[in-house]
Order: sequence, then structure tokens, then C-alpha cells
Amino acid sequence: MKRGALAAALLAACALPAAAELRAAASSLDITPDPSKETVWMAGFGMNRRATGVHDPIRSRVLLVSDGKTTVALVALDLVGLMRPHVERIRAECRGAADAVVVASTHNHEGPDAMGIWGRTPFESGLDPAWIDRTILAIAAQVKALAGALRPVGLRGVQFEGPVKEFVRDSRDPVVIDNALCGLQLRDAGGATVATVANWACHPEVLWSENAQISADYPGCLCARLEERLGGTALFFSGALGGLLAPDPRHDEAGGKLRTFAEAERVGRGIADRLVDALEKAADAKDPALSLRTKELLLPCANPRFHIAMGLKLLARETFDAEGRPFTGKITSKNLPWVKTEVGVLALGPVQAALVPGELFPELAVGGYDGTRAFGKPVVKKENPNPQKLANAPKGPYLRDLLDAPVEMIIGLANDELGYIVPEYDFEVNSKSPTLEPHPPGDHYEETNSLGRETAGRLMDAFGELLKK
Ligand SMILES: [Zn+2]
Repeated sequence: MKRGALAAALLAACALPAAAELRAAASSLDITPDPSKETVWMAGFGMNRRATGVHDPIRSRVLLVSDGKTTVALVALDLVGLMRPHVERIRAECRGAADAVVVASTHNHEGPDAMGIWGRTPFESGLDPAWIDRTILAIAAQVKALAGALRPVGLRGVQFEGPVKEFVRDSRDPVVIDNALCGLQLRDAGGATVATVANWACHPEVLWSENAQISADYPGCLCARLEERLGGTALFFSGALGGLLAPDPRHDEAGGKLRTFAEAERVGRGIADRLVDALEKAADAKDPALSLRTKELLLPCANPRFHIAMGLKLLARETFDAEGRPFTGKITSKNLPWVKTEVGVLALGPVQAALVPGELFPELAVGGYDGTRAFGKPVVKKENPNPQKLANAPKGPYLRDLLDAPVEMIIGLANDELGYIVPEYDFEVNSKSPTLEPHPPGDHYEETNSLGRETAGRLMDAFGELLKK
């Protein structure tokens, strides 16, 4: 954000008649499946991880906002990801209650498989159709109930550098951490909090792969702490956490990483407390502007593992050709299936939020190839057997350069989960054995959960068009 631009915006706001009134309502709903009554396959690490119980519930957290002309529902789900066909079903069920619905997953690795690729075996879906059907209907009912509860609100927002050590680390070279911590608080005329929105980039995986108790991981603790201190409903949105921003837990006496519920609580509370302290000092925003722009686009899927999952109907989504006609014929390198997705930009008071349909690498958000966001670590590890060729890295503009607001959020896994969004210069797969041994030496795991090398460029171009100044 440029200072001059803010001053000009404030002057313009003062010269205008009173801005349109913003109204809001929010609620939180338990969407946890019951592992004592149904088989629940947990998502995010390997297959065949069956839930044995519930430590803390996973939730659908909804904020409905309206300026009298447009009503937008923001939905934050404690799920690993929700693909666009399911988002479209939620939208269809919400018709009449909201003009637009934004659905983002926190990328929780301790909840049920919501995408179908973490079942008992690689050939069986982990997604329970009965649970997803009732969850979609429950979220829509939650949105509809809020439409009758809207009340006037004021807004205040913050953005500052969040903590890194013992909170977040980058496990893939180059080390680039987007540690922007963003918050937005909506309060009614009496000063009571209606909702608080938090935005931070770090995989929700403090608890890691051994845990079999359903949990919302650190974002659940973060939201609980925000609600404890501020009241109202808290929503958490994950930022540019791809490539790969992971928790930096403390260690036990033997030197092992602490993968405990207490550690998830420490991380969640630590982030929440910093946000509350900053919000309490923030001034009210003058302009309650609300707008949402989206752009649909097609992306080629070049990942042979995804092709197999599509063939097995594990990844249940329509495929197209490059012109958007239904996909036909055999998949070959010249006849790839394309998927339909979308990018978006939401403006809400002091916030401008880029809605990214997957796991954006942080370097696509901030650059940082010169080490300015490595926080004391080498940008590329000395022992990396296949170091990134940083001279080929894109020079920008990066996604944050395209945004221009006092609070610039990047909301990942928004309206889709396409997997990792890898910068093209750094995209390497083992072309000799792309299915069985898909990644070459060095840090290239993320490519195996990515549509392909064209994804990042096409998405960044779409944002460039949406955010043209
Ligand atoms: Zn991930």
C-alpha cells in the first residue's frame, strides 16, 4: 500500500456523502463426522488413516455481509480442501440468501477426506458421500439462517509481520516465508463483535500424521482464542502456504518435534493474541465498501497421478478440452483434460483479498528470492542435491504487488483445491517414471500434487487481469 494512495483515499471518503451501511451476521456450525458410527478416513498425509475419535470438532464458520445491494457469504471450513463442484453445490443451495458465496478450506490435515484421495487404498475414495451431502445442506442452511440476522456493523482491520520462529518454517527451498498476519473485526453499533477474520499462511499440521483423533489443529485453537477474547464468531483463512510453509513446533527433551494438542494450542493462541492486541489499537475504517469480482478459467491437468484418480472417479470433477468442450478420447500429452476453476478479488472495508483456488507458493506472493524473507536461513540449503536455479525465478510483479489496500489478504484454497501452485522455473518431475517415482532429487514433492507447470502462470495472468490498475 502506498501512503499517498491512502491519504488520497481518506480525503475522497471525507468528501463523499455518508457511505452505504454495511450489515453482517456470523455463526459457527459443527460439521464433524462421528467415527463411532461411520468410517472416517482422515485426509492430508498418507492413505489408510482411520479416525478413532474426536479431540475437538471441525466447523463451518460463516460470515454473511451485505451493503444493501450485494450480499456475500464467506465460508471457512476446517477441511483439507473442497473442490469446485462441491462449492457449486453449496452455492446452488444458498440461492436467495446470498448473491455470492466464497468457500475456503483451512487445509486441515486432521479432519475427514473431503476430496476422495485419502481412502483405505489408492483405489478407494476416502470421501463419505452421506457426510458430504449432509454437510453441504447444513452449510447452506447456516447461510440462510444468517440472512435474517444481519445487523449494522463497523469494521477495523490490521496487517503486520507475524511471528516466524516456533510458529512457521519453509520446508522447501527457496526459503521464502510470507509472514503477513491479517485481521478484520466487524462490530455492531453497541461495540459487540459480530465476527473476526484471521488470515495467516502455515499448513494446519502441528499434529502430523500419527494422530487419529479428529481435530481442527491450530486454526481451531486460534478461532477459539479469538472468540474467547473478542466474542462473536471467528473465521480463519489460510494464506500462501504452498511450497511449503509448515508449523515450526517446539521440541521435546529427546529433540523430537512436539506433535501435541498442547502445541497446536500454543501456536493458535499465539497468533490469535497478536491479532487481538493489534485490532484493539486499530482505528475504525471509514469506507465499508463491499465488492467481489471473479474470473473463471480453464487449466490443463498434466499430472499422471491425477489422471489415474480421475479414471477411478476418486477426483470427481468434470473435465474439458482447451476450448471448454467436454473432454473426449484418451488422455495423452497432446490431449490433456482441462479443469474449470476461478480466481477472485474481494473488497471489504480496509481489506482486499485475493481468492486463490489452491496452495500458492509463498514466493509467488512476495518474491523473496534475494533472501529478504528467509529469516536467517540460507535461501537454498547447502546440502540440497538439486538446488533451485534462482536466476530463472520470475522478477515480479508478485501477487502482493498487485494488491493495494491497508489490509491485503491472500485467501488460499478458495472456491477450489487444485493442489500446489508451483512457479514454472522450479517445476521438476521425473519424466522417466512420472507415476511411480514422480519426483527428482531435491525439493520437488509438491509437483506430485499439482496440476502441472502451466498452473502458476495462468493463475497469475488471471489475477493480473482482475487487478489491473
Ligand atoms: Zn498442502
